[in-house]
Amino acid sequence: MTQAKTQEKVQEIVKDLKSKYPKFRITEPRKAILTYMIDTDRHPTAEEIYQYLKQDFKSISLATIYNSLHFLVEAGYLYELTQAGSGTRYDFVGDRHYHMICKRCGRVDDFYYHDIHVINQAAMDQTGYQIQQTKIELYGLCPQCQQDLAEQERDA
Ligand SMILES: [Zn+2]
Repeated sequence: MTQAKTQEKVQEIVKDLKSKYPKFRITEPRKAILTYMIDTDRHPTAEEIYQYLKQDFKSISLATIYNSLHFLVEAGYLYELTQAGSGTRYDFVGDRHYHMICKRCGRVDDFYYHDIHVINQAAMDQTGYQIQQTKIELYGLCPQCQQDLAEQERDA
């Protein structure tokens, strides 16, 4: 992402966070974490984010990083990847949520998946396209509809 695009994205998320969590202060280090997470292609650990941010924010603590990361996970902007042996890693999911749609009642649920680049790579290899956006919709029966149908079947 270009720098201007990233800043635009950060502003957009900050606005969203301010409206959803009026009590939460969006400090400069927190903005810096967001910026870093949007720009990085890696899945950094809290420790790696800490090392990076320390260059600009000398007094930042690892506790602040953890605190901000947990908040951003809860707000739905970061995804926690727990990998055996390498601890918890973080991934930006701002643009990476996908839709699960119920064919019966039309309910839509978001789901997150970090490894979508596998599909993107296959698509690029096979078609030669350069991918700009990924949008995935899966269709099925939501839990409520499954239950409704099971009850109907039982009552029939
Ligand atoms: Zn349904």
